[in-house]
Amino acid sequence: MNAYHRLRPWTDIESCECADVKGLFLVDLLSDNPIHCENCRREVDPERIGLTTEETEAIAHWYWAANALYRLWLLSGEYEMYAKERLLDPSGEVNVEGRQIAQALSAKLPTRLWFFHDSDDGEPTACPVCGNPLNTAVKWGTGRCDACLIQI
Ligand SMILES: [Zn+2]
Ligand SMILES: [Zn+2]
Repeated sequence: MNAYHRLRPWTDIESCECADVKGLFLVDLLSDNPIHCENCRREVDPERIGLTTEETEAIAHWYWAANALYRLWLLSGEYEMYAKERLLDPSGEVNVEGRQIAQALSAKLPTRLWFFHDSDDGEPTACPVCGNPLNTAVKWGTGRCDACLIQI
């Protein structure tokens, strides 16, 4: 990553324009909003899908830490390994909290936490939380685990 990229918005993800949002991902695509449509993977405004202030605040709280760790990992400096370990730990705070939010939101709309994966470590085949084989019938990423509400 060069200096120009660091000072630009890291991605130019647009808003979801699907007629109907049928499911969500909580995913860090280096934008301000981690709520993404499961169909087009673009951002979904929390107000559009009727999230309460409390739900939106819980997501923002989770994302503050999740996004910080992700950026530390991307920066490849002193904190890279630390950040990766935290992001990979299924019982680490960002993953526990992220899955709790996914579960709470799933009462309204099926929601999955996008689990961290380092592509240097090869393709994931098992769910990082429960260890069962991933369901690979997915449009985005490699697979998902419906029991653990994650996608990877
Ligand atoms: Zn969409
Ligand atoms: Zn699982």
